[in-house]
Amino acid sequence: MDHFTYKGGNLHAEDVSLAEIAAQVGTPFYCYSAATLTRHYRLFTEALSPLPHLVCFAIKSLSNVAVLKLLGDLGAGMDVVSIGEYLRARAAGVPGNRIVFSGVGKTRNEMHQALQGGIRQFNVESEPEMRALSDVAVSLGVRAPIAIRVNPDVDARTHEKIATGKKENKFGIPISRAREVYAEAARLPGLEVVGVDVHIGSQLTELSPFEAAFTLVRELTLQLRADGHAITRLDLGGGLGIPYTRSNEAPPLPNDYGAMVKQVLGDLGAEIEIEPGRLISGNSGVLVSQVIYVKHGEGRDFLILDAAMNDLVRPSMYGAHHDILAVREPPAGAPSQPYDVVGPVCETGDTFARARELPLFAEGDLVAFRSAGAYGAVMASEYNTRPLVPEVLVARDHFAVIRARPSYDEILKRDSIPPWL
Ligand SMILES: *Cc1c(COP(=O)(O)O)cnc(C)c1O
Repeated sequence: MDHFTYKGGNLHAEDVSLAEIAAQVGTPFYCYSAATLTRHYRLFTEALSPLPHLVCFAIKSLSNVAVLKLLGDLGAGMDVVSIGEYLRARAAGVPGNRIVFSGVGKTRNEMHQALQGGIRQFNVESEPEMRALSDVAVSLGVRAPIAIRVNPDVDARTHEKIATGKKENKFGIPISRAREVYAEAARLPGLEVVGVDVHIGSQLTELSPFEAAFTLVRELTLQLRADGHAITRLDLGGGLGIPYTRSNEAPPLPNDYGAMVKQVLGDLGAEIEIEPGRLISGNSGVLVSQVIYVKHGEGRDFLILDAAMNDLVRPSMYGAHHDILAVREPPAGAPSQPYDVVGPVCETGDTFARARELPLFAEGDLVAFRSAGAYGAVMASEYNTRPLVPEVLVARDHFAVIRARPSYDEILKRDSIPPWL
């Protein structure tokens, strides 16, 4: 469920008309609903209660500091994959002891800054990384809390670019070698083993791969405890998928996920950490764009929008589907036709949808891409010198620009011509 609905013939975010935002902010823009973000975060905390737990929002899915503040104020922790994301979490007022540092290539510099600033735990992904962290912690005279990310070799049955739990993926330590690596962790100075971490991929639409992975984590935890390690936290990663079409696609809900977690891991007395990104942010956002031209091609009509692949890359990068809605509600029984929906960028890859059946559009009409809150704005670029797409946050009947569109002056000022040219 989300808070993007037609009211009085116009698509609204909560109680704000998207057309009104477009009039003030210009297009394209991302718009997020505070109520949906809040609701999705709460679904997870409710699903895991009464187990001790921390829901760490995966910042990489949607990293605007205003959104992080909203979730952080509700009590959310944060999952970061770079020191830049760490600094965003801190700027949003999230304390270090609620920030988990994930990622396969943390640098010593990043470790140093996070240890100094305060961190809940590092999710370590390799032995060289573990040794580097040990060095950095010793040099600072502190102990770094760690969980080791294990790779369970489980097929997440999702898009190949976002599957992370198979042995051929770059992530984590093979679960078969985990005991050995934990033994080294216990010997290394400057490290404090606190947990086990796993994350098998993104946009999972079934519970069974999670269940298979968590069952292996359970067995490993019992072995590690028998080996003398204090495993007090289990970080289960993120990855729960969302429906991108409004047809019969029905991925499991946080409640089903929570019930399964309790069943598999609930008796271990460990604190459960999860790192959902997409399920919290995905359906909390839309991308609003304007039709520049309707172009009649040979055998097809093109809807040329002012949004492009640089603003929302998922369709061209992953072949992803986003539902497209007319911002002005089409009357019941209104005619429709197939359109190829494209942006103005000079690449054929700049295509959002082919032969999509949509209501009839004319120049100047507004469209909204649904489910664009996750991996939307964060993956945007200024390719073709198109200004970085702005972001707007709505709460009830008010909205605020939470990242402004840069001016062309600002864009040009970032380049400098060396004096010898
Ligand atoms: C990407 C990622 C997540 C979030 O994944 P979603 O599919 O957005 O829930 C969580 N943890 C780690 C380590 C990740 O890399």
